[in-house]
Amino acid sequence: MWAGPVLKILILGGTAEAVELGGQLVQDKRFHPITSLAGRTLSPAPSAGERRVGGFGGVDGLAAYLKAENIAAIIDVTHPYAARISGHAVEASVKAGRPLARYCRPTWQPTDADNWIKANSVEEAAEKVPPGCCVFVTTGRQELAPFWKRKDVWLLVRVIDPLKVAIDSERGIVIAARGPFSIESEIDLMGKHQITWLVSKNSGGPSTYAKIEAARALGLPVIMVARPKPIDDSGEQHDSIQGIIDWLERVVD
Ligand code: NAP
Repeated sequence: MWAGPVLKILILGGTAEAVELGGQLVQDKRFHPITSLAGRTLSPAPSAGERRVGGFGGVDGLAAYLKAENIAAIIDVTHPYAARISGHAVEASVKAGRPLARYCRPTWQPTDADNWIKANSVEEAAEKVPPGCCVFVTTGRQELAPFWKRKDVWLLVRVIDPLKVAIDSERGIVIAARGPFSIESEIDLMGKHQITWLVSKNSGGPSTYAKIEAARALGLPVIMVARPKPIDDSGEQHDSIQGIIDWLERVVD
């Protein structure tokens, strides 16, 4: 039976792996996990332990939070494209003198049967879509503007929460859905809308990989938006949740 102090662990979340980590830590009497969300989605996936929502107010705000809440360690389990908060976590951990580890989801790798076209940004991806095609856009609600500028293509846009603005059906349609998706349902969706191109981030993980497999099965090209370069990748990094837990064990030992 653990009789020592309960250690508060800040999990920077917004991913399935953050939910998984919170679920594991909450079962350990030594830890009190606090999962932090930016507040982008209306109904985020349930997570175990405490939850807080909203930005910290930059590096200084995060460093102040770490001290005020007496956080023992920070674990960055944010999405690979959420580069700003990851950079803030590095700086704030130094400022506040709290240990930090980052979970890095492994990237998807193309197979010989895939036809991936690399784009360095969502803007570049929108430019690379050829005129006249039907494109399935899966890069998220926040970066749709470059695609809406393309009046010469038809868009199937998938987001987690419904958009507040109505879309002209001549230009495309927006569907709201949360993964995981099956290959069969992705093939059905792409077939129903006569999709000829897919645009995706290289998110990694199983939850949204079915669209890549569906594009492969249908012989469709994929514009793959490259991951942003980490602002600072010098710190402790692991590509598995078990690796993160092992690190935490060493830190609190
Ligand atoms: P971002 O550009 O790296 O961060 C922008 C700002 O949002 C940060 O400076 C911070 O505000 C706040 N923020 C981000 N993540 C936060 C968190 N977990 N807790 C508290 N504040 C957070 O992030 P983003 O790309 O907008 O992503 C936002 C969230 O959605 C992340 O938690 C990420 O895991 C999740 N997500 C992102 C994507 C994606 O493609 N980007 C996909 C799936 C999920 P302050 O400076 O005020 O602290």
